Amino acid sequence: MKIGILALQGAFAEHEKMLGGLGAETFEIRQKRDIETAFDGLVIPGGESTVQGKLLAELGLTDRIKTLIKNGLPVFGTCAGLLLLAKRIENDEHVYLGTMDITAVRNAYGRQLGSFSAAAEFGDMGEVPMTFIRAPYISGVGDGVEILSRVGGRIVAARQGNMLVTAFHPELNDNETVHAMFLDMIKAS
Ligand code: GLN
Repeated sequence: MKIGILALQGAFAEHEKMLGGLGAETFEIRQKRDIETAFDGLVIPGGESTVQGKLLAELGLTDRIKTLIKNGLPVFGTCAGLLLLAKRIENDEHVYLGTMDITAVRNAYGRQLGSFSAAAEFGDMGEVPMTFIRAPYISGVGDGVEILSRVGGRIVAARQGNMLVTAFHPELNDNETVHAMFLDMIKAS
């Protein structure tokens, strides 16, 4: 199993470490030729969605990645990665990859709550610790989107078929539940 980690900007190294710890092989995606040969899963890390989105377009990666996801490649987006996958962002005119039928709100917790920790149920997999850093939340979901977690009434994790997103950063805690779920999605695909 070979998982590509988008490594243009943001917290990609932590995903590599966590997936490596779970026995998965990872490689970094920095340019078009990195995704010319087949791979089994894709991680889009946290960081700045505007920066990552711009780089994806400039490097000619947007359409290729969109097609791979539409063809069923399992993808896991955290935080900025959630925003890149969202079909709609309420407070941003951009749509980046736009493959997942969710509406997101950027930088949604205000200045005071820019970064915070919480713990909440993740699907039926028990409680997981959650680190939020200038995080988005999901304000609306389409049919076929499964809501996995809520914090303070807001949706912070969801899945639609081959796409998994979290508003928080599971790679910054020791708990491996979310990454293990992503590996199960890859195994099942
Ligand atoms: N605030 C960032 C954005 O709008 C996301 C923050 C993160 O990925 N930790 O893209």
